[in-house]
Amino acid sequence: MRFAEVALKVPLHRTFDYRLEPEQQPCVGGRVRVKFANRACIAIVVALKSHSDVPEDKIKALESVLDTTPVLSPDHLAFLRFSAQYYCHPLGETLFTALPGALREGEQVDKTQVPVLTLTEAGRETTQLRAKKQLALLEQLRSAGDATASELKTLGFSQAQIKALLEKALIREELRTDTHWQSAPLQLGNKPRLHPEQATACSAINSQTGFRTFLLEGVTGSGKTEVYLQSLEAILAAGKQALVLVPEIGLTPQTVNRFKRRFEGLPIDLWHSNLTDNERLHTWRRAEQGESALVIGTRSAIFLPFQTLGMIVVDEEHDGSFKQQDGLRYHARDLAAYRAAQGQFPLILGTATPALETLHKALQNRYQLLPLTKRAQTQQDNRFVLVDMKGQPDQGGFAKASLDAIAATLARGQQVMVFLNRRGFAPTLICHECGWLSNCDRCSTSATYHKSLRRLICHHCSEQAFVPVQCPDCGSTQIMPTGYGTEQLEEFLSEQFADFPVHRIDRDSTRRKGSLESALDEINQGGARLLIGTQMLAKGHHFADVNLVVILDVDSGLYSCDFRATEHMAQLITQVAGRAGRSGEAGTVLLQTHFPEHPLLQDLVNNGYQDFARYALREREETQMPPYSHLALIRAEATNSQLVMAFLSDLVPATPYPGIQLLGPIPAPMERLAGKYRYQLHIQAAQRKVLHQYLAQLADYIGQHKLANRVRWSIDVDPMDTY
Ligand code: ADP
Ligand code: ZN
Ligand code: ZN
Repeated sequence: MRFAEVALKVPLHRTFDYRLEPEQQPCVGGRVRVKFANRACIAIVVALKSHSDVPEDKIKALESVLDTTPVLSPDHLAFLRFSAQYYCHPLGETLFTALPGALREGEQVDKTQVPVLTLTEAGRETTQLRAKKQLALLEQLRSAGDATASELKTLGFSQAQIKALLEKALIREELRTDTHWQSAPLQLGNKPRLHPEQATACSAINSQTGFRTFLLEGVTGSGKTEVYLQSLEAILAAGKQALVLVPEIGLTPQTVNRFKRRFEGLPIDLWHSNLTDNERLHTWRRAEQGESALVIGTRSAIFLPFQTLGMIVVDEEHDGSFKQQDGLRYHARDLAAYRAAQGQFPLILGTATPALETLHKALQNRYQLLPLTKRAQTQQDNRFVLVDMKGQPDQGGFAKASLDAIAATLARGQQVMVFLNRRGFAPTLICHECGWLSNCDRCSTSATYHKSLRRLICHHCSEQAFVPVQCPDCGSTQIMPTGYGTEQLEEFLSEQFADFPVHRIDRDSTRRKGSLESALDEINQGGARLLIGTQMLAKGHHFADVNLVVILDVDSGLYSCDFRATEHMAQLITQVAGRAGRSGEAGTVLLQTHFPEHPLLQDLVNNGYQDFARYALREREETQMPPYSHLALIRAEATNSQLVMAFLSDLVPATPYPGIQLLGPIPAPMERLAGKYRYQLHIQAAQRKVLHQYLAQLADYIGQHKLANRVRWSIDVDPMDTY
């Protein structure tokens, strides 16, 4: 072979040929060094060939070969090619997105060793320690086996605790002798007997030999995780690896430990955005060499190269964090389907609130629907109550009925959870005299008032400003907050219910490392408490003593220009509600709304998400929105709005393309963000194939467009939020 065709990390929809010297022996899927535009770069070989169309005198020589064995196997390369093509993203950038940082920089694959922490003799015997957290750390290692420092941090322990135990010689660092995980026998922790629906689900999954996608549609607390565990058991026992994908904030100690305790002694690796480059490379290699049996990770774990992958589980498959929102805008759940088909193994999508796309496929029998309709530990269903806010005096954001219910629940010694998906004190400040609003200078939205920080902070571009004492427009001092945020709810409820502990859980209150864990620890001690939070509170955590949930501001989801808004609202309500009444008694869920008669809300409350979702699907069918059609978005932004408009307008063809509907250019719902004007083009097609044919052409056209370098643009296939 005389030429190597390589992919470079450049935003171009093409590959490049380089001439090989006789002694150079690169491999497909391996890395090489090349000169590109007078810069030294790393590239990945995608083909070796005896002929190149580049003229002999133009073609450059390859600088050097980095890998003699591929970092991307042929199967993995095929998977990434598919990803690039599906999401209309340049192949080179796609390959480099998938590689861990260290490999992108040219590091060798086998270099890394990450030490694990293991109990010493003394540590094994220690059952008493004054420092509670240190004792818990020892207990963690005892019950779930050795762990790296980063794993322990994911589980809520701190570097200081690790250091203290190292100094006391209760634990020590050890380099793991990496072996294929199959050499460790599968030991199982205690497991419950499956309920009938769980057993049906497990046997359907376990009897599947090839590729099949299962939708495990189980109400919160119905024992989905137990079904994952017992399905994984069969795969692991057969000597195959498995991947469990969880939402960004789903990688909680509770979740991880359930897997670690069940599969004692099995190498389980974690993958998330807080790993160091070294840890990433280490986990990458362990997956590839078959040294890890199971990886639990967030969305980008879908790109890990497994040696013998035998199952993928996507937990909370409806969660928005599986979709990457910049660069390669992939959806990890959808790519999981490709990988499962490619490797001919089962894929389990589990959720209480399936995405309408997923449910649609299940109802068409393309996915096998496995319902879990009963809670595993309690038979009672939560009671939903719509609290009509019309004409009610508003007390700190609450109706009187809600405050009464809170008081009664606390008096019974139970916990209350108040949910509002807006942090800060108030979403905006307003001047009482002239109507001035605390708008962000750089975005078309208002900056949120954070009282304790005494700042106005834009939640979209993070711009901060001091709170003005006087109105910047009219000089009045009558500036007041309007609307509510979690900080204000905390202040109000702390006054109203001064005898009870109040915990606020949102991104502001949990910024300090370990603060979320300690709040959760306190809450789990039980007793009457008030929990206030944003969606951080809605996911992943179990609160045994919560008996009342109050959800504020249901209405913003009912009337929104985003066609997915009601779906997302219903998912959130159902997920939040699922936190209540987990131990025995039925809980109560209060929904404060100005539209108690709204049909979708009525359906959700009276018949549950299952029914709501099927009704919402019919609505999508009538309006021919996804999943009944396919959507892509061309987004563009620049400081100069005319440039953006000119660029997008020029993409609209003079004659319509058959099977394609174009809408736009229209302003993005947030027209200005961080000083940039943003517009978009909606592209819709009844046939996915037609959409992709069209997008491929369009990407070529854009690549040569004279304005393409002067605006920031992107193609988003299957966009999740249409703004
Ligand atoms: P989900 O993932 O659907 O929210 P979990 O798997 O977390 O539900 O199960 C909820 C609770 O019920 C957990 O405490 C779990 O240990 C318990 N559980 C699940 N399945 C069973 C079973 N078959 N028998 C007894 N308890 C179970
Ligand atoms: Zn004013
Ligand atoms: Zn802003």
